[in-house]
Amino acid sequence: VMMRPTGHLSLSSKLRLMIVSTAGAALVVASVLYVTSEVMNLRHDLAQHVLTLAESVADNVGALPGTDATLARTMLQSIQVDPDVRSVELFDAQGRSVSSIAFGAPGAPIGQLEPRAADAAAQDAPPVRFDGFTSVLIQVPVTAGGARGSHIQVIAELAQLYTQLKRYLELMALALSAAWLVAIYLANRLQRVICAPINELLEVAQNVRTSNRFTLRAQKLSDDEMGRLVDGFNGMLAEIERRDLSLRVYQNDLEKMVQERTVRLDGAVTEAREAVDRAEAANRAKSEFLARMSHEIRTPMNAVLGMAELLRISNALDERQRRYAVTIHQSGTALLGIINDILDFSKMEVGKLELEVVPFNIRDVVEDVIETLAERAHSKGLELMCDIPDPKGTAVLGDAKRLRQVLINLVGNAVKFTERGEVRVVVQFKPHDLLNPGISFEVIDTGIGIRAENCSTIFESFVQEDSSTTRQYGGTGLGLAISKQLVELMGGTIGVSSEPGTGSRFHFSVALTPDPNGSAEPQDTSVLRDMRLLLVDDNANNRRILRQQLCGWGARVTEAASGRQALGILDSAFGGQFDAFILDTRMPDHDGSEVLAAVRRRSEFANVPALMIGPVLASDAPQDTPDRHVAWLNKPVRQAQLHAALRSLVAHDLNATRRLQVISTAALAQIRQGKRKALTIPRLLLVEDNPVNQEVALAILQELGIRAVCAWDGEEALQRLAAGRFDVVLMDCHMPKLDGYATTRQLREMETLSGDARTAVIALTANALSGDAELCFAAGMDGYLSKPFSLDELYVTLKPYDHGAAADSATVEHAMPALVKAAPKAVRCAPAATGSPLDEQTLKQIRALRKPGGPDLLKKIVDLYLANSRTLIGALREALAGNDATGAQNAAHSLKSSSANVGAKLLADLCAKLETGAQEKDLGSCQAQFEQLLAEHERVVQALTAQTAAA
Ligand code: ADP
Repeated sequence: VMMRPTGHLSLSSKLRLMIVSTAGAALVVASVLYVTSEVMNLRHDLAQHVLTLAESVADNVGALPGTDATLARTMLQSIQVDPDVRSVELFDAQGRSVSSIAFGAPGAPIGQLEPRAADAAAQDAPPVRFDGFTSVLIQVPVTAGGARGSHIQVIAELAQLYTQLKRYLELMALALSAAWLVAIYLANRLQRVICAPINELLEVAQNVRTSNRFTLRAQKLSDDEMGRLVDGFNGMLAEIERRDLSLRVYQNDLEKMVQERTVRLDGAVTEAREAVDRAEAANRAKSEFLARMSHEIRTPMNAVLGMAELLRISNALDERQRRYAVTIHQSGTALLGIINDILDFSKMEVGKLELEVVPFNIRDVVEDVIETLAERAHSKGLELMCDIPDPKGTAVLGDAKRLRQVLINLVGNAVKFTERGEVRVVVQFKPHDLLNPGISFEVIDTGIGIRAENCSTIFESFVQEDSSTTRQYGGTGLGLAISKQLVELMGGTIGVSSEPGTGSRFHFSVALTPDPNGSAEPQDTSVLRDMRLLLVDDNANNRRILRQQLCGWGARVTEAASGRQALGILDSAFGGQFDAFILDTRMPDHDGSEVLAAVRRRSEFANVPALMIGPVLASDAPQDTPDRHVAWLNKPVRQAQLHAALRSLVAHDLNATRRLQVISTAALAQIRQGKRKALTIPRLLLVEDNPVNQEVALAILQELGIRAVCAWDGEEALQRLAAGRFDVVLMDCHMPKLDGYATTRQLREMETLSGDARTAVIALTANALSGDAELCFAAGMDGYLSKPFSLDELYVTLKPYDHGAAADSATVEHAMPALVKAAPKAVRCAPAATGSPLDEQTLKQIRALRKPGGPDLLKKIVDLYLANSRTLIGALREALAGNDATGAQNAAHSLKSSSANVGAKLLADLCAKLETGAQEKDLGSCQAQFEQLLAEHERVVQALTAQTAAA
């Protein structure tokens, strides 16, 4: 928008300008009109005056008699009374100038006026004619007298007009000025009337703007438009003020609200923080509670289990009481299992469970698990096997213990819920991700199965398939929940597919890192390359797994699904076609021994080595085995064992010792007690503040043949340690005053100061939470045993400190069930002069070791003994015949300890004598001893057979 040129002027100036210019213009116009009209009137009047004069002159001239020119002239002269007249002239009728007189200054331009012809026409013309503004020409006819027809012409110059005009103009200027002043005055007044309210409004607006006070109001001075404008302005201010107010109120409310909210939020945050603190504290408390509970529960459990175990093997109880003790021990063990489960579970809940990373071999873990559960499976008549196809990639880094726990759970369940058929563990390596091989495990059973709708719920804690399961099979429903969590912790998943009545297939995978330093167990498989084997087993899966392993070593395998089929194959074969047989001892048609007997009847196969593979129950162990080409392996077969057994067989180096070793490796795991023999640890210090625990520990130690010195607390322990050397210290961790850790630390300091050799310290702790082991080792302890511990566990823990270990070289002794420390003592005692060749006490002890529902240990041991002793007698005979003193000594030694174990004291003594004789190379006396020994052996065999038959 363009601004007008006057746009910069103030409103009042504009107004003033407008009024003044309007008034001025009006005045000027009015004055000009007035002056013009006045001047014109005046001119007219002046001309009329001259005309009147002229007419009177004309009248006078007319009145003249004749035409006397002089007189006329005089007459004409009279016109001079009017000063304006410049000339007068008399014309005759013909228009000739008769007389003319000029007045005043002749310079006036009268001549311009054409003299009018005095014709008729001229008579009609107006008598007055103006020439210019002031010059006037008047012609007046003379109408009478002699001069009739002539006329007078007067020329006048109206000089007065100018004077008059000047006067008017002066007047007009005066009036204009006056009017102007009045106009200005009025304009001022008017401007004040209009502009004042506007200015005031302006001022108020400015004030409002600068002060921001919306309470200001403009003053209303009139009721006109200005008044309304002020009203509008004030209304606007009022509205703004109202809004301002409500805005402020709203703002206030808002602020208050924000403040309130902030306060509330602060409160909530504080509360939340407190809640978190409380939760954390509760969590800590829970963990501590767990640790304490585990300690609290394990301490009495230690006593219960320890005492029950002692009771169980005690001689003082009758059969019924012993059963009670066994039940207590069993229930206690089960309870401990449950407590461990719950502890595990709670630890996982609070995220306390940490995985270890240790190098291990998957095959070892799986085979261990299978072996642990083999007895349970075999006693139900189940086949239990593992299928690990790839010999490479089994060396990994990970948590072997947890993997084992999951497998034990799953395989244990599979065995538990399967009545007939088989349980199979299949391991597969997924090669696509070499860096982090997903290793998948499957546990496949042919048991009762699980309904589809329950397949996911059984992984929840405390859930079992249905409540009848609990009644029929027991269990807490925690096993799978723990397995699931463990698997997930190991970066894998677990699941199950199942068909009720047909079986279940549990599968899980874990991410285990390949162990770069680990290698597949180096086996020299070259011996087995191209070996021709006949594999006889009724179970197809078993056959397949064995065949895979055998073929992996380069052997050529022929399979037979039954004894009959095997014999059929052999009938159509020639001798030498097979390098070895592998026979399942349990088959539906003929058992392995029968098949072997049938095979041996064919002369061409009489010397072909045979490997018998059977369940862990030794009941179908060979009654007599003159056959030197047979080895026995327990199911489940460990790959390494299979390999070793086959190698030995093929190499025909099956001496008795080796052979037994092969047989018993698996059995040993089952007959743990059998492995134990008295430990020689002359100085053992037991530090334990709990009297019950002390008694239990002492009793168990005594069972292991160890007499311990006791200390009640750390201080006493330190005193004793200062006073004399000990081989091993069993140190309770939690004791009043000086606890086990502090005591050990002080002991280590003492040792450093004195320069003494380091005393082995083994922690005994009832804490099962992880981190205990670290604490122990940090305190300078050498070992760690968690309470409650069993005889075996203590045995295994103390074994490395056994002084007798070095002296003991007879491997057979390991293989045979050396029972309790009473046995070696009994050997030294003179045999009781009773009719029986057997010590009843010893047999009782063996019986006592039998778990209810478990295999008949006595029978097992007797069976083993029968097989073993015959072999040894054979070996002895051969050695004596061949003048082999060392061979005779070894065989006698073995026979001595194994006979002692079954209570054949006299026989053991005879063996001892023979052993001494052989040692002294006195083979002559040995020969004599041997006859006596044979007779005694026969008696023992008969007595033992009678014993087992009675049982
Ligand atoms: P528990 O065995 O202590 O009862 P688990 O968590 O190990 O607890 O198992 C939960 C339930 O899952 C079992 O009670 C059983 O009903 C079902 N189950 C587990 N494994 C098998 C299996 N191999 N065959 C059939 N049912 C199974």
